Amino acid sequence: MLNLLILGSGGAIPLPNHTPPAYWLSLDGHGILMDPGPGALVRLIKSAHGLDSVDEINTVLFSHLHPDHCADLVPLLFALHSPVLPSTKPLQLLGPRGLKNYVQQLQEVYGDWILPAKRPLIVSEIRSEQNLDPASGLWAVSPGVDTGIAVHRADHSESRFSRENLCFRFRDEQGYTLTYSGDSQFCEGLVQAARDTDLLLVECSTPDEWAVEGHMTPESVGRLCALTNPAKVVLTHFYPTVTNLNLSALVKERFSGDIVCAADDMLLTAPF
Ligand SMILES: [Zn+2]
Repeated sequence: MLNLLILGSGGAIPLPNHTPPAYWLSLDGHGILMDPGPGALVRLIKSAHGLDSVDEINTVLFSHLHPDHCADLVPLLFALHSPVLPSTKPLQLLGPRGLKNYVQQLQEVYGDWILPAKRPLIVSEIRSEQNLDPASGLWAVSPGVDTGIAVHRADHSESRFSRENLCFRFRDEQGYTLTYSGDSQFCEGLVQAARDTDLLLVECSTPDEWAVEGHMTPESVGRLCALTNPAKVVLTHFYPTVTNLNLSALVKERFSGDIVCAADDMLLTAPF
């Protein structure tokens, strides 16, 4: 079972229909909050497809540590500091090397206020070319397992805490796959993650003529799709420079498959 709720389909600049990045993924019964950008928690709680309480979040996955992809970590930890919330399950944070230092630095700033009151906080650094499996409720590296999360290297600018940027390929027990680019320009890791995937959730931040290093444009998305042949493509991470364009038509100049633009609160369920 694999489904994706798009909480935020924009980039760093909030737009009315495209708020900053955030995704809620359900994989074989495991809920994953992916890239909790600014406003992610509010949108997850307000959505009819979301959660009743942030206390139900057990896993947070980060593609990289730029603020538009992780700013709601502090509000989440602060909410879980409240003793009125009942869960005692561990909260696992999964992200690139540097995540532990990032959380430590946040704790320097906020102290115990961002320690969950009842829940163990587990910070796990992951690397490209690893596969993750939810062993005993926590995600751990499991060589040879092809369901779960395959981690690949994305090509994006460094953050202060992390030089490595990640993209992901999720595979459920029925064999359906979903690939998320994170932030990345065209690169080999993205090609590996996207090959023959059922759903490619790929950033398309800027127009071709405003191409920014570390990001995709309609031309590079079309090139990626032509090479990897995804069954369905969902474009996301929109900046104001692309929202007036017919992005799917531009991508279709290079790839004739099923292409849609993400919108906030869009729900996609396998087989997509
Ligand atoms: Zn970024």
